[in-house]
Amino acid sequence: MRRTKIIATLGPATDDPKIMDRMIEAGVDVVRINFSHGTHAEHQERAEKVRNRARAHGRQVGVLCDLQGPKIRIERFREGKVVLHEGDTFILDTAWDPDGGTAERVGMAYKSLPEDVSRGDTLLLDDGRIVLWVDSVEGTEVICRVVVGGELSDRKGLNRQGGGLSAPALTHKDREDIRMAATMQADYLAVSFPRNAEDIHEARRLLTEAGGHAGIIAKIERADALQNIDEIIEASDAIMIARGDLGVEIGDAALPPVQKSLIKQARDMNRVVITATQMMESMISSPIPTRAEVFDVANAVLDGTDAVMLSAETATGMFPDKAIGAMDRVCLEAEKQRVATHSHHRIDTVFKRIDEAIAMATMYTANHLGVKAIAALTESGSTTLWMSRISSGIPIYALTRHVETRRKVTLYRGVYPVSFEETTKDHAVLNKEAIDELLRRGAVREGDLVIITKGDLTGVMGGTNAMKIVRVGELLNTEEDIESRVD
Ligand code: PGA
Ligand code: MN
Repeated sequence: MRRTKIIATLGPATDDPKIMDRMIEAGVDVVRINFSHGTHAEHQERAEKVRNRARAHGRQVGVLCDLQGPKIRIERFREGKVVLHEGDTFILDTAWDPDGGTAERVGMAYKSLPEDVSRGDTLLLDDGRIVLWVDSVEGTEVICRVVVGGELSDRKGLNRQGGGLSAPALTHKDREDIRMAATMQADYLAVSFPRNAEDIHEARRLLTEAGGHAGIIAKIERADALQNIDEIIEASDAIMIARGDLGVEIGDAALPPVQKSLIKQARDMNRVVITATQMMESMISSPIPTRAEVFDVANAVLDGTDAVMLSAETATGMFPDKAIGAMDRVCLEAEKQRVATHSHHRIDTVFKRIDEAIAMATMYTANHLGVKAIAALTESGSTTLWMSRISSGIPIYALTRHVETRRKVTLYRGVYPVSFEETTKDHAVLNKEAIDELLRRGAVREGDLVIITKGDLTGVMGGTNAMKIVRVGELLNTEEDIESRVD
């Protein structure tokens, strides 16, 4: 069973129900709905469709809504795309027809661009694939020379080298989109271009006001965000290493060490971490990944990421299910490495909470005793989050009656959602029912060791205070079972 989770972005290439089914069969855990493209009706329809198909497959698939943020984008071309050649003049014009772009000129919705840039600036389009040099600014026109050309299509992002172009984190559109995400009952909401913790707090406030329960993901994609990284991680439920924009701002060569330290820091702070962008980029038009892409995904797994993400590979690519299949294969193999299954994590730390202590004791025991599975009876999933911060090869089943929790844990490495109604407060019976559920799923067999964690008061969030080691088929009905408790 794969532990690392796969996020796939939905788009025109995934709307065919047959493709959606194949993506679910290939093992997608979370779908990303990108609010940078498409209408609310399309987003809602996609979320409904994926949940329906997941249900038909007996699976949980999380829904992640990704806000556009203050990303500056060019408008659209008459023909959808153009080709720019080195040495060409290309004008970014805030007064131009948004649908009327040509190889000479394209519209810009960001009206302050002519004030923000000046002669000598380097502008990067489409995650740095196309490089422009600003020659002059005249009225609404930013007149550029093409330094690196190539194909340029509608609504590609624009950055300035060194950063400093983007406006405050939550735009008017983002505020509306947050309400939409709440209506769609998104499981995660990704905030684009946050600069500090306050941007995250504000998104959470707006989401809560709109009745949403999504976990908040901070996309780390600005140089400023790295300056305030501790407070941003603290304020968020998860972070996304958004290598596209981040690489443009800090330079591509700076990305690998930043990825490694962000993954480590997120895990140390009990937060989820996603590695994103261009992971299988060549699979937009190729049925197999490059060797470099195989190594990139494997290395992210070895770094300890919770999830790897696909963007255009699935949203507009030719082989959405194959891209998921390739990630699945590579993750599974990487997870066999010793660094992925053995942990020195938190060896020297002091635990602040009882559920944290139980989670840590469980993982230590599981990793050293040869346990087959962990059955965590959980309300909010918080105990399974603590557990999944520890490297292990042992599956962690989140047994819960809450569908929101089952969807939320789709993002946690090594955690698998299981629908489970706690019908009794009798611990012996509850243990037996939990084991029976794992037996039914073929997760354990007679004679296997299983660790069960739960609270004395079932139904209380963060109330886990006990772990119990049981051998499947034995000792399940006696009250004299040795039960280690921490009260
Ligand atoms: P985006 O974010 O795909 O929304 O731009 C990811 C990134 O910048 O890497
Ligand atoms: Mn981005």
